[in-house]
Amino acid sequence: MTQIIFATGNEGKMREIREIYGDLGCEIRSMKEAGIDVDIVEDGKTFEDNAIIKASTVQKYCAAIDDLKDAIVLADDSGLEIDYLNKEPGVYSARYMGEDTSYDVKNANLINRLDGVEKKDRTARFVCAIAAVFPDGSNKVCRGTIEGYIGYEPMGENGFGYDPIFYVDEYGCSTAAISPEEKNKISHRGKALRMMKTYLQ
Ligand code: IMP
Repeated sequence: MTQIIFATGNEGKMREIREIYGDLGCEIRSMKEAGIDVDIVEDGKTFEDNAIIKASTVQKYCAAIDDLKDAIVLADDSGLEIDYLNKEPGVYSARYMGEDTSYDVKNANLINRLDGVEKKDRTARFVCAIAAVFPDGSNKVCRGTIEGYIGYEPMGENGFGYDPIFYVDEYGCSTAAISPEEKNKISHRGKALRMMKTYLQ
């Protein structure tokens, strides 16, 4: 059976991939489940670069282990782009204002930076790039996005990260105010994972 290894330590992402890829007929394992522990430096300039860096670092490690050498390795990189701020925080989304700064502070800072900006100029999107690296070292990348705008105040208790300030017109609220199931249906990561699934099939 083909093995898919997802290069993440994030349980939420593993749940989502298991839900979407459950019917692929592959064995799906996290890095931890496959016994892989590698440090990855995400120094790419784009989401795609970072996803490939993560997946190919792990694939090279797998290639040297008999039981893992035929595995397909997937990795993702995601973040928030705000058009008015020249697409900040972008690939620095996790590191924006420092990794240890709370999202309450990061979100308040972004809202402040948009002070006085009209709704039509507050456009933003979540982006997710998923990379697959195959046993021969070749790769494929898929990009999923969800369009929205930065609200005037945080809203909602669900989700994580920038969800409380990211509003979607269709719902008239932030992505922290809809259920996780609803968000998975429309999210950048869900879209990119489904695109990659079609490719893998
Ligand atoms: P990574 O892809 O796990 O490196 O995530 C990058 C960062 O982007 C996260 O730490 C969040 O700050 C942000 N981010 C990515 N996806 C979402 C989302 O769905 N909601 C809120 N923030 C997100």
